[in-house]
Amino acid sequence: MTQIRAISFDLDDTLWPVAPVIETAEQAVHAWFLRHGPPVARCFDVEGLRRLRLAVAEAHPEQAHDLSLMRRLSLRLACRQAGVDEDLAEPAFQIFFEARNRVQWYEDVAEVISSLAERHTLVALSNGNADLALTGLAPWFRFGISAIEAGAAKPDPRMFHHAARRLDLAPAEILHVGDDPLRDVAGARRAGCAAVLLDRIGDRGVDSPVPVIRNLRALPALIEDGTATRSA
Ligand SMILES: [Mg+2]
Repeated sequence: MTQIRAISFDLDDTLWPVAPVIETAEQAVHAWFLRHGPPVARCFDVEGLRRLRLAVAEAHPEQAHDLSLMRRLSLRLACRQAGVDEDLAEPAFQIFFEARNRVQWYEDVAEVISSLAERHTLVALSNGNADLALTGLAPWFRFGISAIEAGAAKPDPRMFHHAARRLDLAPAEILHVGDDPLRDVAGARRAGCAAVLLDRIGDRGVDSPVPVIRNLRALPALIEDGTATRSA
């Protein structure tokens, strides 16, 4: 059995619920346009801006993993279509980015992550554009890799291999923990990493090929007794 030398964590829906924070951030952008670019706010409500972003991602499949770029391009397009200066898109993006990082950690995060960080190297592997420093997690993590940096999104093995290279470890020496059976678990296993599925709601652990936990407090014991490296 390979010794686990580092633990990588997914962020969105693993360390905090992501839907509420994106909703709040998109509302903050709309409120900002009401004051600084009223024609944009009149042409697009929150849902309209969301549809524009999805359309932009569909039009740029090769760059769709770069969520910040997709968000910026869609804000520029909204400005253009509303007939205002496209340069308004950048401050609007900054409003989004700051609000998007004002996350509420799940209640087990501080206790478990701080304790794991005393004995393990922790890294973050996220398809999203959360910023470790802005979310308050940076003290416990050696680094975070986004899909933007890796040039591909999970479940693409490039995300995991990029982390292994930066850690100077073999993929099998990394344990990945995340909430998504495809992106996190299948992606990690395809890349040669160990994986644990975090199933906070209790609806996705059926037939899991890797150990399933309902909250992070169950993770340290799995690592200690070697269960975390078991995979069917
Ligand atoms: Mg996730």
